[in-house]
Amino acid sequence: MNHLHRRDGRLFLEGASLEDLARRYGTPLYVYSRAALDEAYQAYEQALAGLPHLICYAVKANSSLAILQHFARLGAGFDIVSGGELARVLAAGGSAGKVVFSGVGKTAEEMRMALEADIRCFNVESESELERLNRIAAELGVRAPVSFRVNPDVDPKTHPYISTGLKQNKFGVAIGQASALYRRAAAMPNVEIHGVDCHIGSQLTDLSPIADAIDRVLVLVDELRSAGIRLRHVDIGGGVGIRYQDEPPPDMATYRKILQDRFKGRDEAIIVEPGRSLVGAAGILLTRVEYIKAGEDRNFVIVDAAMNDLMRPALYDAFHDIVPVSESQAVPVACDVVGPVCETGDFIGLGRHLAVEEGALLAVLAAGAYGMSMSSNYNSRPRAAEVIVNGNEIHLVHERETVSGMMAGERLIY
Ligand SMILES: *Cc1c(COP(=O)(O)O)cnc(C)c1O
Repeated sequence: MNHLHRRDGRLFLEGASLEDLARRYGTPLYVYSRAALDEAYQAYEQALAGLPHLICYAVKANSSLAILQHFARLGAGFDIVSGGELARVLAAGGSAGKVVFSGVGKTAEEMRMALEADIRCFNVESESELERLNRIAAELGVRAPVSFRVNPDVDPKTHPYISTGLKQNKFGVAIGQASALYRRAAAMPNVEIHGVDCHIGSQLTDLSPIADAIDRVLVLVDELRSAGIRLRHVDIGGGVGIRYQDEPPPDMATYRKILQDRFKGRDEAIIVEPGRSLVGAAGILLTRVEYIKAGEDRNFVIVDAAMNDLMRPALYDAFHDIVPVSESQAVPVACDVVGPVCETGDFIGLGRHLAVEEGALLAVLAAGAYGMSMSSNYNSRPRAAEVIVNGNEIHLVHERETVSGMMAGERLIY
């Protein structure tokens, strides 16, 4: 079901009028549908039904406390990439026992924090990291649970910036070198081998690379078993892609079949770390048109959201659909929708056709993932507010940042 719908020409998310939300909380404003979060989560539960599994929401996709709290309520674990994310998960009521820790650059301090919290597993990405983890666990008198993130050298056929499973990427250890590392780890007193992990990239709309990566990883799991090293879980990394424009929507039935075929009868638990597909479609960014400027060769619709609020278009040339919140009598014009930031790369959408007037509201769709979590204060712009809608209930879950809040922590020198 689509939770975004029109009533009398006006856009609603579930029971909430977007015009009302903009009036109450101002713009730019992120708005999320709770029902959409639930449906996305249930789609993974269904794909994994009957197999031992844990869905670890990738916190970096949207790390707002209320979103984390909601997923914790649904039973999710979390995939974190920093000590800050661990602190957020714990503050939101998530349990450390369901946390896996990914990332190539874990600091000693982050390792200590995660060991003290007693997380489920470290996804170790290099031999040096393994040595550091063993040493820090020894200092604390504990054994660190580890998986190696292996790089299966599969092309995920996605944007190069979010492709992570190729030989030339910085992530993981080459799958061919993994057995040697497992043997080293098995001999270390302060690590305990739990599993294997791989994450080949994000926004995958073709599922066959996921299937190939799992096949390669399972070959390794079986080799290790023959060598006497038994793994308790296989972490298959991030989730499927979402529909931003005209990508074929990810087919969860095919995804389910890929997993069921490969894991039926195996005793390892499956861990999956979806981010984008749990929150992306559930969120929109509301923005108001400040000016319409007729340029010599195109029109510019200048809005109050910018690349600091939604970085994806500037960073990956990503497409987000943009629709007027209220149907307008204006004649549609060809335009670029741009923000006020002083960068040519500051656009929300190029080459659009929109019927809008100054003062109108626009909804930027599928903005729930890698939107707010990538936002910054560039151009000294306070960060947007966030609202979660649940039927007719409206929760302001993150207040708009204030200018004084933005400057807190800074000191003058004279
Ligand atoms: C980013 C990331 C994810 C989440 O990927 P999505 O495509 O958003 O599902 C999962 N695991 C790791 C290690 C990541 O870096």
